[in-house]
Amino acid sequence: MSDFIKKQARAEIFDLKPYTPGKPVEEVKRELGLEDIIKMASNENPLGPSPQAIEALRDSLNTIHFYPDSNCFYLKQRLITFLGIQDNQLMIGNGSDELLKLLVETFINRGDEVIFGSPSFSEYEFTATIMGAKCIAVPLIDFKHDLPAMADAITDKTKIIYLCNPNNPTGTAVSREEVDEFMTRVPDDVIVIFDEAYFEYNECSDFPNGLDYLQQGRNVIVSRTFSKIYGLAGLRIGYMVTTPDIVAAVERVTEPFNVNLLAQIAALAALDDNDHVEASQKMNSEGKAYLYTEFDKMGLKYVPTEANFIFVDTGQDCKEVFKKLMLKGVIIRTGDIFGYPTYIRVTVGNSSENQRFIKALQEILEA
Ligand SMILES: *Cc1c(COP(=O)(O)O)cnc(C)c1O
Repeated sequence: MSDFIKKQARAEIFDLKPYTPGKPVEEVKRELGLEDIIKMASNENPLGPSPQAIEALRDSLNTIHFYPDSNCFYLKQRLITFLGIQDNQLMIGNGSDELLKLLVETFINRGDEVIFGSPSFSEYEFTATIMGAKCIAVPLIDFKHDLPAMADAITDKTKIIYLCNPNNPTGTAVSREEVDEFMTRVPDDVIVIFDEAYFEYNECSDFPNGLDYLQQGRNVIVSRTFSKIYGLAGLRIGYMVTTPDIVAAVERVTEPFNVNLLAQIAALAALDDNDHVEASQKMNSEGKAYLYTEFDKMGLKYVPTEANFIFVDTGQDCKEVFKKLMLKGVIIRTGDIFGYPTYIRVTVGNSSENQRFIKALQEILEA
């Protein structure tokens, strides 16, 4: 780093740990000269995008010389009905990542505190740190959010609490009862962000829908995305539902045209493609069952998941397991970055991907 940057850049950027994204398939192909690679590292939908979304995209390619609708009118109308909310409660973003960043730009002053679980989604710490927040990371208990400890961590400086449910990278969910109890301990001027990126995958009977707390008049934000079950990660589109008050504030810092034209069109079509959503849920459910059975046979401990990925203990150095899997053309995520040096996080794939992953893992662990 040059003296010029050290002197001129904002001090906060030196507090950031660089994000290590899942390796893109093309990069691994190039580096290893491998042709046939499967990516089970970033929780993308193994079924691909909705066929209806693809068709809608084809039909609109000749309109991309226009700027997109900066208000996302049609998509918003559709989402409002879909979610049963008011039209001033919704914001669409260039992925939910953008919305997380806009939220801290709206609310965080240097020295404010934010609370999140550890390990959880890295974007919370990343975005809050840029704005100079003090990050309070509360360790999970049994791989699950420790809500009483998170409530204990609240001070008069607390601005935002992030609740990733189901949690990435562990796949665990906290129950409605636990969240009800937790919410009674959160003061009204603290914002709770329910990050429900994997909402559509959860199979719990007592899953707390963040929208219910919004309905109760609480200052909560519910964040969901088209990147996971809807299969549109490459287009970058997500949304959040919150109070009209918070929407109006966040809109002040939002760029016009933040959501691109193709993303709006694809999201609208994907939302209506129930068959695709159901097929994705079914594939995930079957994939989970298969992987659990195989992990059991291999004697590996894993965390039962409510999402589309599984956190599993390989009993060996995860970085070595990662390298060996990659040489066999399977990309996963290592647990060391989350503080679990023998764990890996694997996205539930389609059946041939799951089988290939298991076969590769068996060969590696038996060797
Ligand atoms: C994948 C993911 C998101 C989605 O991010 P996008 O920017 O919408 O692609 C948000 N939160 C969590 C916890 C995730 O794992």
